Amino acid sequence: MKTVKSSFRFKGGVHPDYNKELARDKAIERMPVPSELVISMSQHLGAPAKCIVKAGDYVHRGQLLGEKNGFISVCVRASAGGLVKSVEKRIGPAGGMADAVILDTTVPAPEGDPVPVGPILPPLDWKAADREELLQRVEEAGICGMGGAGFPTSVKLNPPPGKRCEYLILNGAECEPYLTADYRVMLERADRIRLGVEIMRKILGMCAVRIAVEATKPEAIAALEKAFADIDGNVEIVVLPVLYPQGSEKHQIFATVGRVVPEPPALPIDVGCVVENVGTVAAIADAVEKGEPVLERVTTVSGDAVAEPKNVLAPSGTKYSDLVAFCGGEKEPPAKVISGGTMMGFAVSTLDIGTTKTTSGLLLLSKRRVFQYASGACINCGRCLRACPMNLNPALISKAVDANDVKAAEDAHVMDCIECGACSFGCPAYRTITQSCRRAKNSIRARIAAEKAKAAAAKEAK
Ligand code: SF4
Ligand code: SF4
Repeated sequence: MKTVKSSFRFKGGVHPDYNKELARDKAIERMPVPSELVISMSQHLGAPAKCIVKAGDYVHRGQLLGEKNGFISVCVRASAGGLVKSVEKRIGPAGGMADAVILDTTVPAPEGDPVPVGPILPPLDWKAADREELLQRVEEAGICGMGGAGFPTSVKLNPPPGKRCEYLILNGAECEPYLTADYRVMLERADRIRLGVEIMRKILGMCAVRIAVEATKPEAIAALEKAFADIDGNVEIVVLPVLYPQGSEKHQIFATVGRVVPEPPALPIDVGCVVENVGTVAAIADAVEKGEPVLERVTTVSGDAVAEPKNVLAPSGTKYSDLVAFCGGEKEPPAKVISGGTMMGFAVSTLDIGTTKTTSGLLLLSKRRVFQYASGACINCGRCLRACPMNLNPALISKAVDANDVKAAEDAHVMDCIECGACSFGCPAYRTITQSCRRAKNSIRARIAAEKAKAAAAKEAK
């Protein structure tokens, strides 16, 4: 195992204020189970899980609440024992509505249905278990990418025939401002990350491993060097220059192994790479060795309007209001609350939202930290073109969206946009370019889905 500097720098990128000092030295703190949890069936990319419980049911910690509902889907389990008060549509961290199980955790288990003791799933000896058993465990533990995208991990670890993983890349860049959850996981759980890597190499085959960490995290690099010191095979920690969006999957592949993922629908596996967030890798170790599904995660609660920024280990479904209360409440009324980081996160209008497996951060920002300027006309300065790491023309796309010309946005390759926010960050006209890209992508996806549905209906009618 060795530590090397990255030899590849991608085009574009920006340097936002990182503000990580607010929470970076706060050790992970487990919060008590709140009295009510809001557990969404849509905590991942793909089809929401199919809810299998109803109001009045009592569920134990770890019990299945929602079954995987398709190839790209993930199961959902109860993060605490309690009584199902209702199953209802609730707003999620990214603004969409999905079925959620509302759980009252203050109700004790009914007589005759005692709380089970011991692990939730039978622990596996990963050295003795075969590849299929390990893959099945990843699936039944409900693991999805915990860096934010939420892609089902069992799908990623099972490349299609003819595709082989040459490089397993661990994403520890955490380039989003304010967020320090992954940093704390690398610092405090490096041994679990090492075990997760061993298990993943058993599933994927003995591939090379690259662990990507930004240069501003020397303590995390030291912890990983210690944990991986005697690991077999081709393993390197790659120290990345500080540049946003270094944590984007495609840019990380380029920064670590110099390979370029072609345009969609190409995937990282098409260039021999599988990328997983460090928290996901630690979750794989827990699922296999301890039989512990993903029921909780570390979320950074930060910003200048929260009393005590922290890295909180909270059960899935913890309401944002309970997270804030655990961090001492509001220091002052926030002008903006963001689910995630300031670059790619979503502004939310309520704290009545439950955390999910992908909730990496919750930020409370005062009016001093929030731009108050109105969006203006483009002055053709070209700054967004220089910032875009995907070589797009963000100004052109945003003007096309303003003109309701989705076709022009599509012709300008808006579907390649990774929604990193680098274009909006430096725009002197304060144009909401990233939001325009999101709007155009949603319209295009909706049109494609409608076309597919129409084609399927026509086929059935024949
Ligand atoms: S157009 Fe998309 S990929 Fe390019 S900088 Fe803007 S958000 Fe990022
Ligand atoms: S940065 Fe803003 S003003 Fe400059 S070209 Fe891009 S959209 Fe126009």
